[in-house]
Parts: sequence; structure tokens; C-alpha cells
Amino acid sequence: MADLAAALRAAVPGLTVLDDADVMDSYRRDQAPGLPAGLPAAVAMPEDTAQVAAAVATAAEYGAPIVVRGAGSGLAGAANAVDGCLVLSTQRMNRILSVDPAERLATVQPGVINADLRRAVAEKGLFYPPDPGSYEMCTVGGNAATNAGGMCCVKYGVTGDYVRGLEAVLADGSVLRTGGRTVKGVAGYDLTSLLVGSEGTLAVITELSLALRPAPAPPRTIVAQFGSAAAAGAAVTAVLASGAEPSILEIIDATTLRAIEEWQPLGVEAGTAAMVIAQSDSSHEEDLRLIEAACAGASEVIVADDAAESEMLMQARRLAYPALERLGATLLDDVAVPLPKLVELIEGVEAIAKDRDMTVGLFGHAGDGNMHPTVVYPHGDADAERRAFQVFDEIVALALRLGGTVTGEHGVGLLKRSWLERELGEPARRTQRAIKAALDPHDLLNPGKAIA
Ligand SMILES: Cc1cc2nc3c(=O)[nH]c(=O)nc-3n(C[C@H](O)[C@H](O)[C@H](O)COP(=O)(O)OP(=O)(O)OC[C@H]3O[C@@H](n4cnc5c(N)ncnc54)[C@H](O)[C@@H]3O)c2cc1C
Repeated sequence: MADLAAALRAAVPGLTVLDDADVMDSYRRDQAPGLPAGLPAAVAMPEDTAQVAAAVATAAEYGAPIVVRGAGSGLAGAANAVDGCLVLSTQRMNRILSVDPAERLATVQPGVINADLRRAVAEKGLFYPPDPGSYEMCTVGGNAATNAGGMCCVKYGVTGDYVRGLEAVLADGSVLRTGGRTVKGVAGYDLTSLLVGSEGTLAVITELSLALRPAPAPPRTIVAQFGSAAAAGAAVTAVLASGAEPSILEIIDATTLRAIEEWQPLGVEAGTAAMVIAQSDSSHEEDLRLIEAACAGASEVIVADDAAESEMLMQARRLAYPALERLGATLLDDVAVPLPKLVELIEGVEAIAKDRDMTVGLFGHAGDGNMHPTVVYPHGDADAERRAFQVFDEIVALALRLGGTVTGEHGVGLLKRSWLERELGEPARRTQRAIKAALDPHDLLNPGKAIA
């Protein structure tokens, strides 16, 4: 397979190809801990669709697997290399091709960083809502391939809701176009939706047409502190039942708040067991009044007066995961349950942590029923890592029992494959395998990931 790099250089003029072992090492895995990652034969950095198509066709001739990589910020091992593969990095496909305010549409290459797109469209008074916590580093191609969520999904939906059309290279090197520029379009099967969330297993996305919205008003934040996490969960469902339309609705539990306070004190009241953080970016006064009323059980409610104070209150949520990471190794879960089951999920996670005597920080997109219970354990402690995975599995099993899903937004990757099997059932698995076989008959695109 040493020849793959040479073959790529010969077949694809101008393509950057790396095969230095030390350099390739940094392209082997994403941000998920404890998952296998193979040794690539080459890393290629195409700049346009033609180079991607030629690189894929060359790898296919060699029978080399192809692992597409955006920023590698994934949390499920989906971008982890497999032995002898070509890692196809989109980092040089980072051009915003057009932003059209009348069509409210941006056309972009897949390696554009999410935050760069948000800033570029904001200059034209527009808004690209999908906002994963990693938005300063992750790519829009990776977002589409994982159907990424974020904090504002509770009002604006997920990445897939904004993908109007795609260009993609198939496993044989041919170029496919799906969807288009039109708002409507029902010609044939919805191949755009099929590729969204396919985690690099069906095609390489080379261009995206992304819907935009008019920029909303600057948001205002409201923070409520509760005596128990379950009370905070109940407040979240009350907010949504109240008719308010929050643009963010999140929960942070006591373990996570303690980690934040020890690191960057924000003045959280002692004894606070959980915090609800909500924002409104429309009909502020009415929304804030409804949200405050729904948080009647809180020990304290703070409503920001302006954008600066709003941003300060949001800090706690932004610090949640990095604060837990400071405590040790972390195993971040990503389960989602129907909203009426949110309190049961929170109480269940607390009970599992207590039974297993493990630290689990709980925070997440409560308004979507999507929480990120994060198991924290000492670095380099193999026994603790084994017990962390056990707790992680018990939490996933709980979510399934509550009628939820094994992954709300991070995807299946390597991490959740065995769980996918349990969630889907045989007819759905058979259908997914048939789709994969039809699009990638030689199993070259990200083999061993995302499907059960
Ligand atoms: C601190 C932190 C916070 C996070 N917060 C969130 C969050 O709020 N919501 C959320 O959903 N996720 C979150 N994530 C997870 C991660 O950032 C997302 O899954 C993101 O969409 C991955 O984008 P990426 O460019 O890093 O893709 P990568 O990790 O490089 O790849 C992810 C998958 O997409 C595939 N892929 C990438 N580009 C393409 C392409 N052009 N064509 C086909 N397949 C492709 C890869 O093969 C892989 O299967 C977070 C991660 C971190 C580290």
C-alpha cells in the first residue's frame, strides 16, 4: 500500500499528498477516547471536486478504504482511520462560493469552518443557525455528514434542516448532485437527506447549498437555579408547554457547576443542584415572562438586561465540557429521550452514577431531550476506564428503555455501532445495509462505521 501515495501524486496533478508517518499520526483519530484507529497509507488534501473524484477513483483502483475527514472534532470515532486507508482531508476545500441574500442561500465547500460561515453571512444580515459547541473548529461538511445539532436546535432545528442540495463524489469517483437551489423540490428519492448523517459511508460531500435565515434580534438570557436536577428538568418541560419559543434551553447539573466554579467562579449560589439556561431572540418580554413563570420552583432567577450580560450568563454553559475535562479523562454520552421522559432520564443517570460510585456530569440540550451525561475518571486508569464504559452503556440502555435514541447528534461512528443494532431492529438494519451495498459495493467508504 506504500504505492498509494505515489499513485495519487501521479494520477492527480496538484494534489497535496502526505505519507510521513509522524504527520499522518495527527490525522488518525477524532476526539473520542478509547476507540481503535488504524494506520493510513496516505493523507490527501484536495482543493476541488475534480481532485476528490480523481483521488477516490485512484484509491478505489487500489482497493484502499477512504476515510473523509473534516476537522476531526467528532465524538464517536467516525473519522478514525482504518489500516491502509486514504484519509481525505477537506481542510483545503474551505471556500465560501456565494452568499445570496435574496435566495437566502450560501454555497460552500465542505471544509468551511462553521463559525466562518456564520460570520460571513452575518455581514449580510443573515443567520446560519446550526451551532455545534465545536463551531469554531468543525466543518460544515462534517456537520452535514453527522447531521450535527447544537444549542439553538430547540428553536431552529438541526443541520439537515438547512441543507438544500449537495454535490458529492460516489465510491467509483463519479460526481452526484442532489437537491438544488430551490426551496421546494420533490423529484425522486430524497438523496440529500440520505447523505445527511451518513458519516462518510455513502459519498464524499464536495459542495453544499445551505439555507439561511434573516438575522434574529440579539438574544437575551435567563438563568434559573434549582434545588434538584429533576426540578430543573420539570421546568424545561414547563417552559416548552408555556408557549414560549426559547432559542436555547439547556441544563447543567451540580457536578458540572462545581467543576466550573472551581475553575472560573461565576458566583453560582451554594447548594444549587442544577441550572436552567434559556435564551430568547424574539418577542423578548413575552418569552422571558413565560420562561420566568415556568421556572417558579427556582431558588433564584436572573434575567439579563442586555447582550453583554446575556453573554456572561451563557459562559457557564460554554465552560461545562472543558470544566469536566479538567477533572480527568471524560467519556461523553449523547442520548435523547422524548421530552416527557426528561426528568426520568436525569434521575436515572444520577442513580446509575451513585450505584456505580462514578462521577457523571450532566449537561445538555434539555429542550431537545438531548443530554450529554459525561463520565469522568482518572487518566491512565484502565479499571476506571472499563467502569466508565459500563456506566456509559447503562445510560444508553436507560435512554432506549425511555423510548429515546442512542445518539441525538454526535452520530454512531465506532462508538455506538452495537447500540444502533439494538435501536433499529432487523428490517431497518437490512434496509440500511442494502443502501450501503448499492452505493458502495466494495465497502471502501469509511468501512466499519455508522451502520450495524
Ligand atoms: C467541544 C466539542 C463540542 C461539540 N459540540 C457538539 C454539539 O453541540 N452538537 C453536535 O452535533 N456535535 C458536537 N460536537 C461533535 C462534532 O464537533 C460534530 O460531530 C461535527 O459535526 C464534526 O465535524 P468535523 O468537521 O470535525 O467532522 P469530523 O469529525 O472530521 O468527521 C465526522 C464524520 O463526518 C464525515 N465527514 C466529514 N467531512 C465529510 C465530507 N465532506 N463528506 C462526507 N463525510 C464527511 C467523517 O468521515 C466522519 O464520519 C462537539 C465536539 C467537540 C469537540
